[in-house]
Amino acid sequence: MLKATGIRKSYGNLEILKGVDFEVQKGEIVSIIGPSGAGKSTLLHILGTLDKPDSGTVALKGTVINKLNGNVLSAFRNQNVGFVFQFHHLLPEFSAIENICIPAFIAKTGKKQAETRALELLDLFGLKDRAQHKPNQLSGGEQQRIAIARALINSPSIILADEPSGNLDSENAAALHKLFVSLRDNFHQTFVIVTHNEHLAKTGDRVVTMKDGLII
Ligand code: ADP
Ligand code: ADP
Repeated sequence: MLKATGIRKSYGNLEILKGVDFEVQKGEIVSIIGPSGAGKSTLLHILGTLDKPDSGTVALKGTVINKLNGNVLSAFRNQNVGFVFQFHHLLPEFSAIENICIPAFIAKTGKKQAETRALELLDLFGLKDRAQHKPNQLSGGEQQRIAIARALINSPSIILADEPSGNLDSENAAALHKLFVSLRDNFHQTFVIVTHNEHLAKTGDRVVTMKDGLII
């Protein structure tokens, strides 16, 4: 599904990624752990085309994505990559269902079709009765599930999650990782998850450890 080869990235004189090779199969959950500053977020941003490597290639479903630019890149990212962050970044003025639909509207999906899909996801996540709630009317765990529904609405090839449970208590964090596993089991959804929590990392299929800009 995703293959990165020889990824290098420097900020000024500081080399953050020193030649990273990384591969994910369809339907696989790969967790990335390692100390703060190891380069995990930088790698995730490059895998998701939010940032470009200085050298090396990233291929998603066979398309070398670090060669894409501008609107082509934005459209490719919006349709193929779903992002989940530590903080949900939901828009406060929009309802849950409106937030979920945003990437579909960017992809020019019709309103009816987008809302139908959003309601399916809300139902799947046990949140159908929360569709019209604003983010501040939802619990932390609910907000994060809405953010995951938003990441899923365009049926992306891969979900990239940076500390998705970092702001949740242990019960909600465990529930979130269980949700990832059920999305893998039921829909062959592919995930790369950066986490500090080694226990939760092990709920996936494979754990990769980064240190000083390399996978060790
Ligand atoms: P991790 O996610 O493993 O904690 P990061 O990828 O966030 O590591 O950061 C790795 C290093 O890169 C850190 O030393 C950080 O300060 C530095 N860094 C990250 N992004 C930038 C940037 N845009 N400009 C300069 N330095 C950065
Ligand atoms: P995390 O460790 O959870 O991945 P961040 O990715 O937010 O946290 O940042 C990691 C480190 O990189 C922090 O020390 C932060 O100050 C630094 N950093 C992030 N973005 C930049 C940037 N644009 N310029 C300089 N330093 C950055």
